[in-house]
Amino acid sequence: MSTVNGNGECPQCAYESAYYVTDTATLEMDVDCLVCGYGERWSRVIDRQTGTNNGCIHFKMRKDGYPIIRHQVWKGYGSYCLFIRSDGRPQVGMLRKPVRERRIAWFKDKLKDPNVDADRSYFLVWDEETQQTRCVVGTFYDVVRVGPSLYGVDPQKT
Ligand SMILES: [Zn+2]
Repeated sequence: MSTVNGNGECPQCAYESAYYVTDTATLEMDVDCLVCGYGERWSRVIDRQTGTNNGCIHFKMRKDGYPIIRHQVWKGYGSYCLFIRSDGRPQVGMLRKPVRERRIAWFKDKLKDPNVDADRSYFLVWDEETQQTRCVVGTFYDVVRVGPSLYGVDPQKT
């Protein structure tokens, strides 16, 4: 499987560095926004009758010979970033269910872990009314722009 990665605008929050990943063999595509949590996927449908045998995947086809494509969309409810000291990089999660208080409490509890750098971690919630993300814990920095490898630099100064 080979993929082509790129960045593009998020359809939900207009963040310009959402991840676009295309599988060049199957032409399946994923869109993931690390800011608002929005997701979108175009995938081929596996044929349940022939399924996967001998290491080959059989996809369902239309009568005209074109593959059947399933299109899924996940509304984003926010995202979080935990900066793991031992990994030296952030662990990012996209939230695709409404954010409840206990999810934020879970995040705040994670910040107590000495292996988590609380100063570099944040929790964002999508605000339907303003159509923007709001930082409810920590200070937001752009993971994609700053980049995990470059993130030895204080994002406040970049
Ligand atoms: Zn977004």
